[in-house]
Amino acid sequence: MSDDGKNTASQDPSSKLAYKRIVLKISGEGFCNPGERGIIMDNVLHIAEQTYRAAGHGAQIAIVLGGGNILRGAQFTSGNSSVHEATAHYMGMLATVMNGLALQDALESLGCETRLMTAIRMEGVAEAYIRRRARRHLEKGRIIILVAGTGSPFVTTDTAAAQRALELEADVLLKATRVDGIYSEDPEKNPHAILYSELTYDDVHRQNLKVMDQEAIAKCKQYEMPIRVFNFRTVGNIERAVQGERVGTLVKV
Ligand code: UDP
Repeated sequence: MSDDGKNTASQDPSSKLAYKRIVLKISGEGFCNPGERGIIMDNVLHIAEQTYRAAGHGAQIAIVLGGGNILRGAQFTSGNSSVHEATAHYMGMLATVMNGLALQDALESLGCETRLMTAIRMEGVAEAYIRRRARRHLEKGRIIILVAGTGSPFVTTDTAAAQRALELEADVLLKATRVDGIYSEDPEKNPHAILYSELTYDDVHRQNLKVMDQEAIAKCKQYEMPIRVFNFRTVGNIERAVQGERVGTLVKV
């Protein structure tokens, strides 16, 4: 749609793209070094540069950020009864906001126009996530960074990514993670684990493969939202995935 609301798909250079609209889930682990915690701006900039190049091909990009580099609710409360698990999940959601602020500045330092949108209202830091407004930003070519997950505890940002992919009518959910895709077993424990190039949602369910939360997978399956899981540490992978190249593992019907 153009600014005046008319459909301009025939003149749209993005009509030749593999995907016109993408939700890119970036795990918080991308923001720190392996086995460490916190935010390292060089790492953030590295992801920002890849995203910037990917956006240059014309696809609309909504990023859903994780917060695992700072705090995960479930981990924080295990063996720690002095904090309610719901409180810890809210802390996890706030962690994603810190990551979002860092990524926004990194993207803008490269000349990208961005909007930071939060599912938990905090005027003065980020604008509230409102679906129609988010779509409008995307149509205007802005990269939107979606933080605070779903705004509700007891789920992870994978569920938020699936939710946003569906409501923003993305063509694909790209999950950027620290492994090369979906393996038959945990590749960090078994070096002989097999890397799959393509799977169905049912394969994932039957083999109990650890891709995303069950809730996120179930939502994607219900609405046939394809998911591509790939390694963000391999330079150029974000760009390749956005262009529809066969990196990592594709999960579909
Ligand atoms: N979280 C939550 N609700 C949401 C999204 C996230 O409660 O809708 C919390 C949850 O505790 C989660 C943490 O925020 O562990 C950080 O997100 P996540 O673990 O998904 O980050 P990632 O592993 O992708 O870096």
